Amino acid sequence: MKNITILGSTGSIGVSTLEIVSAHPDRFRVVAMTAGKNLELFARQIRAFSPRIAVVASGDDVARLKEMCSGLDVAILGGVEGLIAAATADETEMVVAAIVGAAGLVPTAAAIRAGKDIALANKETLVTAGHLFMDMVAEYGVRLYPVDSEHSAVFQSIEGHRSTDIEKIILTASGGPFLNTPADQLKRVTVRDALNHPNWSMGKKITIDSATMMNKGLEVLEARWLFDTGVEKIEVNIHPQSIIHSMVEYVDGCVIAQLGTPDMKAPIAYALSYPERVATGVKPLDLTTFSGLTFFKPDLDKFPCLGLAYRAIRDGESMPAVMNAANEIAVDAFLNGRIGFVQIAETIERTMNAHTAHKLVSIDEVLKADMWSRETAREICREMVH
Ligand code: NAD
Ligand code: MG
Repeated sequence: MKNITILGSTGSIGVSTLEIVSAHPDRFRVVAMTAGKNLELFARQIRAFSPRIAVVASGDDVARLKEMCSGLDVAILGGVEGLIAAATADETEMVVAAIVGAAGLVPTAAAIRAGKDIALANKETLVTAGHLFMDMVAEYGVRLYPVDSEHSAVFQSIEGHRSTDIEKIILTASGGPFLNTPADQLKRVTVRDALNHPNWSMGKKITIDSATMMNKGLEVLEARWLFDTGVEKIEVNIHPQSIIHSMVEYVDGCVIAQLGTPDMKAPIAYALSYPERVATGVKPLDLTTFSGLTFFKPDLDKFPCLGLAYRAIRDGESMPAVMNAANEIAVDAFLNGRIGFVQIAETIERTMNAHTAHKLVSIDEVLKADMWSRETAREICREMVH
């Protein structure tokens, strides 16, 4: 039996994680879970999974959740302290980090310091503070398992190999809903168009990140830290069918890839049950039903966010954290109709232009850079004519 905490249980990754737990009640028990705003779903989850601790992100919601859970034997907490209590609960062996955005940083850091293994969905953690997190993982001797499908694919493709034999890592990208939209029409796309991802069903923020291709930029950074490799060894291939989830090429010219029906339950289950594999209910892959699997290079002119991510990697230090926070603000502004789709990249670029990269030696400093970027990006969005 593995005791787990789920940070972000009401999200897309959180719900899929609970489906795996439901299918294997003999293997996994939920000790603690946390949620942001969706209290109705959260209360239902608490009833179904009986965690010892349940945490809402806002302290203001504690009283209401207590009311909704009256009669249940659960400690209900709120705020960042609550998130930390969930992440560090005594019995917890593994924390599924599935909060979206830089909000995942503090509880995930607390979990590592408490010696918990991490199943990492929250890529923003590594994007903003990869060097600090990888140092902490080493210092506290915990295991960090990727949940992101591409990184899970790489993880599965490097098992049993020497890292010195890796020639390159090839991350695949679906290309998102606008892969075939002419560049001059991107100005007019709507929130609905952008949320209409062809292959994956995910939370809103990452779905917009996929439409701008910032998601792939964040994933290059994530891979750079997870697999301790230079970015020149990480290549992005557009693969619209999302069947090959990523690949690793070795010095002998051999390429090992991981394939499967696109469904996050597969990489989540692997992170939870590693090194074993468990049934997931994911639709088996029948390659004979595909007329072809295609691959090509991304168009950086049409998708400037990917180029911005490469620039943030080159600048290093605080720049990825600044890029990430500006992206969060810009995506939120787009989702709320305050800026247009192409203005997401513009907001990020202008925020990065206003920043000079500097060293970040603690999570507090990362949060400071993040705050600065949020304020700057908000101001830029306010001035934008949409
Ligand atoms: P989501 O929006 O569906 O869920 C996010 C969860 O975090 C929810 O439970 C929400 O209540 C909680 N949350 C949001 N803001 C919070 C805050 N400020 N404080 C505390 N809790 C908060 O997102 P998702 O799609 O499940 O993605 C979660 C993470 O996993 C993201 O970092 C994303 O990039 C990554 N990821 C997701 C997928 C996917 O298929 N959904 C795939 C790969 C990686
Ligand atoms: Mg991914």
